[in-house]
Parts: sequence; structure tokens; C-alpha cells
Amino acid sequence: MPIPLPTGRKPTSVKIHVSTNAGVDITWADGHASHFDFPYLRDQCPCATCNDERAKKDSLAEASPAFAASPALPMFKPKARATAATQVGNYAIQISFSDGHSTGIYSYDHLRSICPCAECSPAPTTKL
Ligand SMILES: [Zn+2]
Ligand SMILES: [Zn+2]
Repeated sequence: MPIPLPTGRKPTSVKIHVSTNAGVDITWADGHASHFDFPYLRDQCPCATCNDERAKKDSLAEASPAFAASPALPMFKPKARATAATQVGNYAIQISFSDGHSTGIYSYDHLRSICPCAECSPAPTTKL
């Protein structure tokens, strides 16, 4: 499915700091600046596999709120690093992660909608 690029969500500057593992910096056409850490992006991977996994976790959380709220969730995983990143056309970036996962294509539209800054997500996230 082609992803149209809404105006305003167009990046004017994209910096992907693979070698320093410092994440991704994007400046948008409307002047907004976003910073994404690689572990965050790995968690937000928009590919079908990860969408399925998140949906499963969500339904698990609905079925058992105590489980979802437990801070002792046995899901330790090492922090993801990026091993490579490429721009896909003018609408997305693709990131290969240190866990071997590389099917996630992050459209700029998606990236803007998951911008973790205080302005875009006024309620501080308390999710683990
Ligand atoms: Zn994925
Ligand atoms: Zn933001």
C-alpha cells in the first residue's frame, strides 16, 4: 500500500547516527525537531511481525490488568542498537537492528506520530 506524505510531516533534515548509536534526529517542515533513540524505534517497529506482538501484549494486558501493571514483567532484552540504516525513497527510513531485525520501514508520517518529545506526548509515559 503506498503511503502518501501529508504536508507538514515532511522532514527537512534527517540525521541517522548509526556509528555513534545516538539515534535519529529529524527536523520537520513545520520547524519541529524530533529525536528518536534506537531502542525506542525498535519497540515501535511498524512491521507486521512486531504489530502482531504488540497486539498480543495488548490483549494480554486487557485480559489481565495485574499482569500488565506488574513491574516484574519477565521480558528482559538487551537494548537494541542499529547496525545500518538507509533512506527509502523520500518517505521513510529502514533500520537494521543488532538483534537481526530489519524489516521495519519507518515512514516519516509514522515517525512524526510517535515523536517522544514533551510537546507531542504531553502525558509522560509511565509504561515500562
Ligand atoms: Zn518489526
Ligand atoms: Zn515532538
